[in-house]
Amino acid sequence: MYDFHLHTTFSFDAKSSPKGVIKTAIEKNFKAICFTDHLDYDANIYYKDYDFDIDEYFKTMSELRDKYRDKIEVLIGAEFGVQPSLYEKYDKIAKAYPLDFVLLSIHTVEHHDLAKDGFPEKYEPLEVLKRYYGQMARCVKEFDDFDILGHIDYIDRYFKDKSRMPEFKDYRDYVAEVFENVIKKDKGIELNSAGRRRGLDYFHPKKEALELYYEMGGRVLTFGSDAHVEIDFGKNFDEVIEIAKSIGFKELCIYRNRQRDFVKI
Ligand SMILES: [Zn+2]
Ligand SMILES: [Zn+2]
Repeated sequence: MYDFHLHTTFSFDAKSSPKGVIKTAIEKNFKAICFTDHLDYDANIYYKDYDFDIDEYFKTMSELRDKYRDKIEVLIGAEFGVQPSLYEKYDKIAKAYPLDFVLLSIHTVEHHDLAKDGFPEKYEPLEVLKRYYGQMARCVKEFDDFDILGHIDYIDRYFKDKSRMPEFKDYRDYVAEVFENVIKKDKGIELNSAGRRRGLDYFHPKKEALELYYEMGGRVLTFGSDAHVEIDFGKNFDEVIEIAKSIGFKELCIYRNRQRDFVKI
């Protein structure tokens, strides 16, 4: 199996050591893993940067990649927290470093860190989702240097009162606009198992959204646990595979040197 969304102590909010993750992955018989530590600039209302020393990251990760080469394939990626004001910054990083894989994630909308700054409470629920998916569609359309769009319904986690969450049919069009751009640009989305660990009873995206992606012709899909601690590595992947297969997906994607390969599931 393959886990293409993993955090380590290079991320401001993660506790897993890179070596610990690799050892866990070997124990669980994974064929390849990809580290995707956080680069989030201007991430909240105080314009805080959540980043790390990228040279140090590559030094550490490539040493480990070489050390464990015979046991597992270790790939080096990043999760870019994209906003319209940051395209150039991320373009420069993507060009300057030999990343295997880039996740585009929307963690911040209108300078509000979705996890902390109470954005879902700022407007009526449908207006919240319109602004969130609107920014996502815009970033996918305007920013090119990514491979996969991360955890598309991440915002659901941060509705304090889950009963305010509209039904999928009521905001399906916003999500469809995102997928339309993803598919047009030949990018993909991920099936991220973290939702269940973050107060939701589904993975990201929820099944209806994944079905919509498939119906619209989307076939590019990665699997990620989004683990921030070692015990969450590769979590619930049996169910992830089952859901993907039940919708019709026959392959998942892996990336090396920003090049995509399809692998049977
Ligand atoms: Zn994320
Ligand atoms: Zn993540």
